[in-house]
Amino acid sequence: MDILVLKKNDTIKEMLSKLDEEVLEVIHAATAENEERVAEEVFDTIQVCIGILDKLERFGADIKGSLERHNKKLLERGWEYEKVIHINVVRGEAYEG
Ligand SMILES: [Mg+2]
Repeated sequence: MDILVLKKNDTIKEMLSKLDEEVLEVIHAATAENEERVAEEVFDTIQVCIGILDKLERFGADIKGSLERHNKKLLERGWEYEKVIHINVVRGEAYEG
C-alpha cells in the first residue's frame, strides 16, 4: 500500500479546516452504514493528516521521533497490537499505482 504525500501549500489552519470536514464525512458515511464509503472518507482523513505531518516536518518537527514516542506511549499504556504497518518514505520517485 502506498500513501501519496501531495505537493500543497495550504496553511495549517486550512488543513485543520479540511480535517474537520473529512472527519464529519466519516461520521456521515458511518451513519449511512456504507463500509466502502467509510473507508474512502477515513483515507481522505488520513491524507489530510499526512499533509499536516509533512508540513510540520518542513517546519522542522521530528516526525519519525514523534511516531516512535507515540508507539512507546501506547505500549506503556498497555495496548496490545495485531499488526504493524511499515511506513517507508520514498522521495522523488514516480508513483506507478
Ligand atoms: Mg472526503
